[in-house]
Amino acid sequence: MNHRDLNHARWPDGLVCPACGERTHSTFLVKGEPVGPCVRCRRQTTLRSGTLFHASKLPLTKWLLALYLIGQDKNNHSTLSLKHYLDISYCAAWRLKHKLLEAIARRLTRERRRGGFRTEQVQELRIDKQKRL
Ligand SMILES: [Zn+2]
Repeated sequence: MNHRDLNHARWPDGLVCPACGERTHSTFLVKGEPVGPCVRCRRQTTLRSGTLFHASKLPLTKWLLALYLIGQDKNNHSTLSLKHYLDISYCAAWRLKHKLLEAIARRLTRERRRGGFRTEQVQELRIDKQKRL
């Protein structure tokens, strides 16, 4: 999956400035990732803007691989295993895992409130997170 695919997944109808709603923007690369400054307000929007990955220095590919690994494994990946797969430090793997599990738990909680998930699934995730972090 490349940046074009990710852009399309996030903005299927094209990038919309989150500040002013403008659809016209230019695009250039910063550290290999596209940045789209708005032609109206000049706000710079990236794939990471307003997401969990916003302030991270890790490449998006590592975040997405971690999300895939955590999502695929019912028994949850250990921090050491993520460190190995992603070729990052233990501290970075721990922070990444913590952020992803928090985000997943928030989403499950929201879904539970809407009636989409069972309460046990949310509690299982919280217990797994506490055991494995
Ligand atoms: Zn704008």
